Amino acid sequence: SFTVAIVGRPNVGKSTLFNRLVGKKLALVDDTPGVTRDRRPGDAKLVDLRFRIIDTAGLEEADPETLEGRMRAQTEMAIDEADLSLFVVDAKMGLTPVDQTLAEMLRRRGKPVVLVANKSEARGSDGGFYDAYTLGLGEPVPISAEHGQGMIDLRDAIVEAIGPERAFGDDEDDVAVTDVDVSAAEIEGGEDEEIEPLYDETKPLRVAIVGRPNAGKSTLINRFLGEDRLLTGPEAGITRDSISVEWEWRGRMIKMFDTAGMRRKARVQEKLEKLSVADTLRAIRFAETVVIVFDATIPFEKQDLQIVDLVLREGRAAVLAFNKWDLVEEPQAVLADLREKTERLLPQARGIRAVPISGQTGYSLDKLMQNIVDTDKVWNKRISTAKLNRWLEAQQVQHPPPAVSGRRIRLKYMTQVKARPPAFMISCTRSDALPESYVRYLINGLRADFQMPGVPIRIHFKAAE
Ligand code: GDP
Repeated sequence: SFTVAIVGRPNVGKSTLFNRLVGKKLALVDDTPGVTRDRRPGDAKLVDLRFRIIDTAGLEEADPETLEGRMRAQTEMAIDEADLSLFVVDAKMGLTPVDQTLAEMLRRRGKPVVLVANKSEARGSDGGFYDAYTLGLGEPVPISAEHGQGMIDLRDAIVEAIGPERAFGDDEDDVAVTDVDVSAAEIEGGEDEEIEPLYDETKPLRVAIVGRPNAGKSTLINRFLGEDRLLTGPEAGITRDSISVEWEWRGRMIKMFDTAGMRRKARVQEKLEKLSVADTLRAIRFAETVVIVFDATIPFEKQDLQIVDLVLREGRAAVLAFNKWDLVEEPQAVLADLREKTERLLPQARGIRAVPISGQTGYSLDKLMQNIVDTDKVWNKRISTAKLNRWLEAQQVQHPPPAVSGRRIRLKYMTQVKARPPAFMISCTRSDALPESYVRYLINGLRADFQMPGVPIRIHFKAAE
């Protein structure tokens, strides 16, 4: 088990999160002056994780004069005591200098931190979520402590930050995802079912459109929204945030990063029209699924490949759109050629979904949307431990790992530790000596056998006897 500290400035929702994780409303403890109740330990439960939690609430009542000093001392103690800190910021209000100070402190300590953007159910919270990246503590996890949204993402971020071994302890029987599997299997009526009980369709799916300048990104986004609506602001069915537009597609809320809006702003400031790498990264980070727009008449430029690589390295789900298809004269031959090139030039994205479209005429945009939604499901996919272990065994029979000093490496046990993107843990003898080529063999096999196109797949190895 491990210990987590909840830190953050007053009113960001630390206590609400604490109460949600501890699962009961703690009565306010002892307000008698002199009795400190600043750090309350509790036993927390988050999806399948169990841990000890300390929060630093109670500072709200502190003398404002000394608030910062006390907060600093309390926070430092909590951070030092914990294995991991949840640093909570308020996405609705945005960042303040105090957030910056705390972030600086957390960075200096160098211990694992999960940045939590709370109140992200609130209208207008996208900007705050986005600004949280500037804290230099990695990717913020959007949650609503009050409404219980984003708890699975938070769970996954914690596993990622402290590593699956730490998160689940050493006892393999106790590996957390197994618990999830069991309950899912019960619901589904068979342990072989692949499970998607943790997929939240009520949350908007965050999508970004990226690609080289002139690939047709703005045209595509405008087409999705109906041109003048994007230019004239909110209309029926569409809401605009500072950096996103939201609408419904077949009952699913889609929140799309407003690249065009950014460009309009850039133009006003007389900057280059071209999207820079930094802008592309902003869009990618905003999103869960990223559409990479290729100009089908001049595809696979070096920059196209770099963008796909960046999307996958950032852990996002990816879909390719071969745009300007209205200009392509021999669609079948060209499509075959593009697919062949995709496989060859993007081996890290084997099987990625690719859709020929025209942002100009609107051709095939519905199919593109369907592919976006499907790829997001893959990104969220969880595979049962039983199934994975049978698969692991078969993989080793088919292609045994090499031997080290006369003894064959043995892959003993496998489980999925998180989704979004899918990550697995394999315990393995001589995990230090397992060749990179074998890891690639496993990843390619997983991708093919469990149908996971267009998402990065990660495997952690854990030493076993
Ligand atoms: P961005 O830089 O990626 O946002 O690209 P734009 O959306 O500004 O488009 C660049 C140019 O390509 C413009 O002249 C568009 O009219 C044109 N264009 C965009 N999509 C299509 C398409 O599907 N078909 C055709 N024929 N032209 C397109």
